[in-house]
Amino acid sequence: MSFEGQYNTKSAGVKRLMKEASELREPTELFAAQPIEDNLFEWHFTVRGPADSDFDGGIYHGRIIFPPEYPMKPPNMMILTPNGRFELNKKICLSISGYHPETWQPSWSIRTALLALVGFMPTDGAGAIGSLDYPAVERKRLAKKSLEWTCKECGKCMKDALRPLSEAAAQLQDEAKELAKQLKFQDETTLRAEISKAATETATSAETNAQTSAQSTSDAAETVEEVMTASVETETTTPASVRRLSISRASPSSTTPSRPSQQRESSIDRSLFLIVPAVIVCTAIFVILLARRLALSF
Ligand SMILES: [Zn+2]
Repeated sequence: MSFEGQYNTKSAGVKRLMKEASELREPTELFAAQPIEDNLFEWHFTVRGPADSDFDGGIYHGRIIFPPEYPMKPPNMMILTPNGRFELNKKICLSISGYHPETWQPSWSIRTALLALVGFMPTDGAGAIGSLDYPAVERKRLAKKSLEWTCKECGKCMKDALRPLSEAAAQLQDEAKELAKQLKFQDETTLRAEISKAATETATSAETNAQTSAQSTSDAAETVEEVMTASVETETTTPASVRRLSISRASPSSTTPSRPSQQRESSIDRSLFLIVPAVIVCTAIFVILLARRLALSF
C-alpha cells in the first residue's frame, strides 16, 4: 500500500509513520501492525498474550489512532478482542510508570507501545478505569476463544495474524517484560487526573515553601551566623525545598548590608547642611575682597 502523493511527505509525522509502516510490514511472532487501507493515521494491530500468564495462547486485536502531531503527541490505542484485562473500545495511553506521569516520549515507537502492551497485560489492573479484573478462568477461556475472532474492519483473523511461535519469541517476551516494568497503560481520564494531581502537588509544595519562608523571615531572632550555616547546608544538600528555605533565611542578611549605605546617605545629608553655608560664606568673602580690590584700583 502506498501513501505517497496522498500525504505531505515533508511532514515529520507522515515521514515517521511511513518509516514505521515499512519496518513493521512483516508480522513478528509477538505483534503486527499496519495502517488501515486508506488512512495512515489509523492502524490496526495484533498482539500475542504473554507466555506464563492467563493470556497465554490468546491473540488480541486493536486500533491505534495517531494525532496529527505524532510523534510529539502519543497515539491512542483501543483493544477490540474480548480479553478480560482491558475494556473494549476504550482509549488507553502509554505512559512512564512512577510517581510523576509523563505521557509520551517522541523516541518511543509503535513497536515500543505494542511490546509494552504485551508486557503490561499480566499486571494487576488495581481497579483502574479501563481495566478489567476478570478471574483467571475467564481470561483463559477468552484467550482460547480469541483465535477465532475476526476484525470486521480489516478482515484479519487472529489465528493467522502473527508468525507462528518459535524459540526466538522468548527474547521478545523478555523485552516486553522489561518494558512493562518502566511503562504502563492508562485510560485517558485516569492519565489526565494523575497529571493534574501531580501539578497540584507541585503547586502545594511551592506554597508550603513560601509559607515557611514567610515564617522564617518574620523570625527576627535569627542571627547572621544561622544564615551562614543554612547556606552551607544548601551546598551539601540538593533538595530544592532546602535550597528555597535557605534562600528565604538568607533574605534577612540581604537587608543587613543595606544599613551602612542608608547611614552613609544620611551622613551626606547632614554634611550638606555644613558645606552649603560654608560655600556661601566663602563666596561672599571672595566677592567682598574682589570689590575692595576693584574700588582701590580706581
Ligand atoms: Zn482490524
